[in-house]
Amino acid sequence: MHYPHITIAADLYGCPNRCRHCWLGHTPNANLPESTLSRIRDAFRPFADSLEIDWWYREPDFPANYRELWNLTAALSDTKTPHFELASVWRLVRDPSYAGWLAEIGVRTVQLTLFGGEAITDRYTGRRGAYREILQAMDILLSQGITPRIQTFVNKETLPELPHLDALIRERRLEERCRAAGGQFAYFLHAGSCDGAAEELYPVWITLEDLSAIPDTLAAYTCAHFGTERLEDVFGQTEAEWCAVLGEDTSTAALAEERPVFFVDHRLDVYPNFTTPAPWWKLGNLVTDSAESILQKYSQNESTAQRIRKTVPLGEIVRRMGDPDSRRLFGRGDFTDLMLNRYCRMQMKEETK
Ligand code: SF4
Repeated sequence: MHYPHITIAADLYGCPNRCRHCWLGHTPNANLPESTLSRIRDAFRPFADSLEIDWWYREPDFPANYRELWNLTAALSDTKTPHFELASVWRLVRDPSYAGWLAEIGVRTVQLTLFGGEAITDRYTGRRGAYREILQAMDILLSQGITPRIQTFVNKETLPELPHLDALIRERRLEERCRAAGGQFAYFLHAGSCDGAAEELYPVWITLEDLSAIPDTLAAYTCAHFGTERLEDVFGQTEAEWCAVLGEDTSTAALAEERPVFFVDHRLDVYPNFTTPAPWWKLGNLVTDSAESILQKYSQNESTAQRIRKTVPLGEIVRRMGDPDSRRLFGRGDFTDLMLNRYCRMQMKEETK
């Protein structure tokens, strides 16, 4: 069992937010020692030609030692992916040198998430003051020549807030200011995936009828961002349509990939990066299990979720878990993940009765 490349991201410090759309779910913030990273590297080293080790999969650069962690993970890895277009808003407004460091290592755009006005953004980010800090972060980033890209997770609660965002983009002259900074302003909205904490948003999930209430400007930005003609291409099809299309699907799937990405959580539990790191995806624990047995479980598709997907026809899962009357909108992959996660949860409950 040998892989050409393995990426492993460990949740060393967690995240200051508790976003309602968080596909990773809400788990406690840990304060794991940096040595955890070399321990992970040593454990997986014999099983891959090339390894990349990272210290976060929730909020990047949240802890004060973000520079050391960047250098340490570069030293521990065979390859180093450039910094994602993500940053810690929490740190941006508290650490005067952080935005400059981002610019120094080549970050040109940073994605920020707004749900509408102050009250709803604070509530959906799970932190009072988040909205004001995000606006402050925009100015800080622009002062370093980094352009903000704004995303919104739209559902029946955030939909009425969209005109506020439309106005905010104009009032803060984001298009002109991004151009002046040498970049291009981008905005997009989408539903996000219905997993992790976001599964609780299912009751307010956007439906087909809601699309007509999206302001034209935001729709145009969104289509330009995704390179699509119509908003429907961004939001996918209704659950009812997916139930009809996939309800008779007899396929199964072996999910293990040739170049896997793993998440290591605050307890050193290991999960594949397919959807939310839920118990049914767990591959093992680095305290009690060897990397070899974890990789064995992964490659043989033996986590509960992988086994179910490999042995239970998709149609059976969808018929059991889907709502054939629902007008909620999903992409095919996100809908399949929702059905699979629900099915696995049900199976695990039945097994532990
Ligand atoms: S979505 Fe990102 S920022 Fe929000 S709680 Fe999850 S990991 Fe943290």
